[in-house]
Amino acid sequence: MVTMADGSSPTPGSAWDVAQRQFDEASAHLNLDEGTLNFLRHPKRELTVNFPVTMDDDSIRMFTGYRVHHSTMRGPTKGGIRYHEDVTLEEVRALAMWMTWKCAVVNIPFGGAKGGVIVDPRELSERELRHLTRRFATEPSVLMSPESDIPAPDVGTNAQTMAWIMDTYSMHRGYSVPAVVTGKPIPVGGSMGRGEATGRGVMFTTREALKHLGMPMEGTRVVVQGFGNVGSVAAYLLEQQGARVTAVSDVYGGIYNPRGLDMPALLAHVKESGTVTGFSDADAVTNAELLALECDVLVPAALENQIREDNAGAVKAKLIAEGANGPTTPEADRILHDKGAFVIPDVLCNAGGVTVSYFEWVQGLEWNFWSEAEVTKRLEEIIVNAFNGVLQTALERNIDMRIAAQVLAISRVAEALAIRGVYP
Ligand code: NAD
Repeated sequence: MVTMADGSSPTPGSAWDVAQRQFDEASAHLNLDEGTLNFLRHPKRELTVNFPVTMDDDSIRMFTGYRVHHSTMRGPTKGGIRYHEDVTLEEVRALAMWMTWKCAVVNIPFGGAKGGVIVDPRELSERELRHLTRRFATEPSVLMSPESDIPAPDVGTNAQTMAWIMDTYSMHRGYSVPAVVTGKPIPVGGSMGRGEATGRGVMFTTREALKHLGMPMEGTRVVVQGFGNVGSVAAYLLEQQGARVTAVSDVYGGIYNPRGLDMPALLAHVKESGTVTGFSDADAVTNAELLALECDVLVPAALENQIREDNAGAVKAKLIAEGANGPTTPEADRILHDKGAFVIPDVLCNAGGVTVSYFEWVQGLEWNFWSEAEVTKRLEEIIVNAFNGVLQTALERNIDMRIAAQVLAISRVAEALAIRGVYP
């Protein structure tokens, strides 16, 4: 087990533990000295804040939030802010580390960060969420700026949350600073195509993987777990490419129709009811059943640790496209590998979001905005290049795609460290 500089070790089974074990496995393929490896496995800095929010009934409630910067070797740090009741510092650390590898895999000039607040956003009114967001945005402002750290949406946060953060930061500066966050609404400096970017990246990488595996897109049966920003767009775009989306789910449960779900009708149903459940022309399935359905492509697009040792054996998909961060545990990875399944790892599969976030940041710094066609063209180029780079690494070294992605990413960050050197 890894021991960090402060004497702590990751909690076994936590996302932080998984991130460290993946790092060990990948870095074993690289000829890096122990000091460099130890440097790369540590987050650079971590902030924990306990902050008050005035609730609608005028009571004061305390919340805890985190912002972790994993690496600044290749540029400012970048990563989402999550609002979820299960957020922990270890989870945020893991997600920050994965962001470092993700930015390096697609070769954009960012290091990894992540933030989170322990809160179930569904329990708060919009006013309370606005107060919480503005207060939380003030607390880590020592870390946040267009030059140093640029947040984005994640689970439980959205474009509106980013607009509140951008406005709060701007109020303290006295002028508008759009480049301080990405994933903003378009009228306040957001990028065309950012909302769809992660799902679009999932579609591009799935398309490339199908090509590599010699499987047709037309009629390919796709199952999607999680029907939020990532899962719903991935499902919609894969259907547009000719695939058949046979099952989807959200936190309330899943729906299944082997003949295929009508995506536009389902999106309209979700818009109205807030859930995929209750959609006509489909049978109800549980989230556990959904993962084991007969299909060609499985897109986990909800949370971490969904495909584990206890359920990986039941997965029938030949291709797993990780829309979510960390959906597969290392034990499950081995089981999937032994079954001959091809996994597009999260740091590659869902990197479309951070790629267009990078475009949004560049546009915000320059106050010069691109067309959607331009954004999509550049996104496709970066994602397809990254896919081919990871695939080539996997084939050359005879390793799986996850390890290959990390090998590529770790070597890029280590190269930056070697060139910059250790200060002083
Ligand atoms: P979201 O909040 O928009 O959607 C999450 C979806 O998962 C919802 O449909 C929710 O109901 C469902 N869900 C939650 N818990 C579930 C459970 N236990 N079982 C089944 N479904 C469950 O979030 P999102 O932005 O789509 O993010 C999803 C994943 O993708 C996360 O792992 C996130 O870190 C990752 N990700 C998001 C982006 C982005 O741009 N939004 C980018 C990269 C990675």
